[in-house]
Amino acid sequence: MFKLPVCPYCHTVYGIKEVRKNKKKEIIKCYHCENKFKNARVKGYLILAFIITFSAVIVNTVILNLTADIISSVFPILAVSFTAVLLFALFSPYFIKYKKIKNSEIKEIPSEKIIIEPSGKQKRSVRKRTE
Ligand SMILES: [Zn+2]
Repeated sequence: MFKLPVCPYCHTVYGIKEVRKNKKKEIIKCYHCENKFKNARVKGYLILAFIITFSAVIVNTVILNLTADIISSVFPILAVSFTAVLLFALFSPYFIKYKKIKNSEIKEIPSEKIIIEPSGKQKRSVRKRTE
């Protein structure tokens, strides 16, 4: 928790930008050692969502008790909800963990979910000259 993920093979620490870039990939290939590993994010997201929701509920209860009527508490409660979403986006990379793929899991992962990085080859457009 509160730690950026590291490659389970070579322990390269992934920066916040790379974690965000890779967040939707299920399988990530390490840019350093080229091993493939699993992007284990669900459990961390759940923990983070639980912490944030729990805090937001407490703050909203306090707001409701402090404000005189429901209408004047609407805006602060909306602000709390917005902050909660923002906090989730901000801290989610710290709750992601990169894990080794177990041999038993390799067969379970559909091949289309394994992202193959495009090779460095780029086609050059050939311009035909009309004379
Ligand atoms: Zn690595």
